[in-house]
Amino acid sequence: MARRVSAVKLISALYPSLSELKHTCPVDEALDIVKQHLERGADIDGMESLRNVLMLPFDSEVMKQVESGEWLLVRDEAYYFDRGQIDKSVGAKLFEHRVMELMNPSPGAKKSYGCIFKVISFDSREPLIERPYIAMVSGKIIEGRTDSEGRVQLLAPSDGVPVSIRVSFRTPLQHTGGLFSESTDTAFVTELMSRELDANTWVCRIAVNDRAMTRHLMIKRAEISGFPITDRSEWGAVKSGKHISYDWDYSMIALHHAGRSYGCGGSGSTKMGRVFSEHLEKFGDIGYHFGIDCSGQIFEGRDIRLKGASVAGYNTKVIGVVLLEDLTNAGEVGDVVDRARGFMEVLGQKTQNTVPAEQMNALTALIGIIRSVFPIEILGGHREFPKQTQEGKVCPGNNGMKIVEALRGTTGLEVP
Ligand SMILES: [Zn+2]
Repeated sequence: MARRVSAVKLISALYPSLSELKHTCPVDEALDIVKQHLERGADIDGMESLRNVLMLPFDSEVMKQVESGEWLLVRDEAYYFDRGQIDKSVGAKLFEHRVMELMNPSPGAKKSYGCIFKVISFDSREPLIERPYIAMVSGKIIEGRTDSEGRVQLLAPSDGVPVSIRVSFRTPLQHTGGLFSESTDTAFVTELMSRELDANTWVCRIAVNDRAMTRHLMIKRAEISGFPITDRSEWGAVKSGKHISYDWDYSMIALHHAGRSYGCGGSGSTKMGRVFSEHLEKFGDIGYHFGIDCSGQIFEGRDIRLKGASVAGYNTKVIGVVLLEDLTNAGEVGDVVDRARGFMEVLGQKTQNTVPAEQMNALTALIGIIRSVFPIEILGGHREFPKQTQEGKVCPGNNGMKIVEALRGTTGLEVP
């Protein structure tokens, strides 16, 4: 009774059915699939029949038949009655189920119940395959992964049983393992009631926003580490507009200082607001992703999902972090401001700018949090990045560079 199910089938192009034509793979795709099967020595339905009509049953001859369109590669959807939106395995089961019903109609034919979900990426709208999930069906916990089309089928004992599912998210480092326990929020649980499964069963879509969840995870980890990140809305950043684009595959961190007009005293929020207003016109938002004040308070700058504007001509893949003070040494820059400062030092007034321990601890913690989600390889002071000019040649000052070198020593990160 069991019909052999394979994903594709080769048929002669002489007498295809309408349904077969509708599910024929384009020639390029067909060639790829057939070639892969031939290389693996794997069987395709219909291959025997094809070889039987060839003068010489060589693989190259098989390929020629597919290439010329004499033989078509048909997806097995062509053989389902009304497949609807149901996945292949479900479709195949339903197919058998229906054939059995047809052959042996009985009023007490067994029905199945449950829910079908399709998990897609919030960003790309593509199905998320092999994505782990945890589900609960009438109190029983079920763990699994989405199938090759991003689908999940959960069976329930009867109609109207509560079914809930939570799909794991993924950071760029691909660590999904501990993420379930770190996101216990009920907001990420989808709940439905089971219903009868048939070819027309409604498929519930779940869009997983990996980027938003990664940001959420960073904020949560910072809180746990004792260095909470102050949300950008809390220091008064407004929604940004122009010059903004997305970025995500971060592999570098650039360290900055706020510059010579900034001191250690005063509120970090106020300083973030000041940097924001200095950057707004030119960059559409604050350019740095994070700021840290001298007391060790960490501020969210530009949303991590957006490309920064902190290293001229070199922002892709770079997370910008600014220490909200001046980290140059007297004599380092050699302009009017610097000469005046040198004069003050001669008079015995110390202008040396060092990084307070609290700020250093916060920076170390922040780098750890960033590295827990992004595959960071490089840590550089702003001026170490290629082709920087003017303030970019100074930033983050000689004292900032000492910090960068010390951090490279402890983290093993590399020079830009
Ligand atoms: Zn800089």
